[in-house]
Amino acid sequence: MPRPERVFKTQAIIMRRHEYGEADRILTLLTPDYGKLRAIAKGARKLTSRLNGHLELYSRAALLLSRGGDLHIVSQAEQQEPFLRLHEDLLRGAYAHYIVELTDRFSEDEEMHTPFFALLNAALGWLCAPQSDLALAVRFFELRLLRLSGFEPALFECAVGQEPLTARDQFFSAAEGGVICPEHVRGHSATPLSLSALKLLRHMARASYDSVSRLRVEPTLHAELERTLHLYLLHQLELRLKSTDFLRQMRARLL
Ligand SMILES: [Zn+2]
Repeated sequence: MPRPERVFKTQAIIMRRHEYGEADRILTLLTPDYGKLRAIAKGARKLTSRLNGHLELYSRAALLLSRGGDLHIVSQAEQQEPFLRLHEDLLRGAYAHYIVELTDRFSEDEEMHTPFFALLNAALGWLCAPQSDLALAVRFFELRLLRLSGFEPALFECAVGQEPLTARDQFFSAAEGGVICPEHVRGHSATPLSLSALKLLRHMARASYDSVSRLRVEPTLHAELERTLHLYLLHQLELRLKSTDFLRQMRARLL
């Protein structure tokens, strides 16, 4: 990753934000070129501050930062995209929180942050679209995030025998890295995966969000998709990190 100049401009998505001291804010930012940065916005909570209103959670802003050691300093901020609906609607806000957390975990060791920034920026927009199937948007995001971090599950070939999968009900194994056919499933820990779920996953892996967002997905299929992807994400996360609150929350939702 390039080391920033002493003073540098960047786009940033505000991933986390907390109050500090009397009127400051500390921010965790995702930037396209410098990855994740922590910054302090001094006096940002004062109503008279020029920064006030430009550094909202999950919004995208153009920033002028001065390089610091652990904390950069926000000198100027101009909000570019507020993603307002994420603040007006609890469910959209909860999903935004979830995708930001996932991006944070999966981009941890990555050198190339530009694709993560682009994906998160796009996904926050999907969550704001008026008639969206929000769960479908999040599933699409999860698959893209897995691809970016090199953990895309095997959906076209059997994860054990490597032969092309045929059109029938299959199994899914997080430990083996994807779909397993009925012939090879013996001795592996796997859960059933319906043909409809497999078809939908494959379509999501190949199609654009625009085309996926037009699908109508039945609640039972949605539930299957969520469970499959979450078991897989959980497995990947557990390989990558020690137990965290985020993992505990995710596990609690599954069990
Ligand atoms: Zn097989």
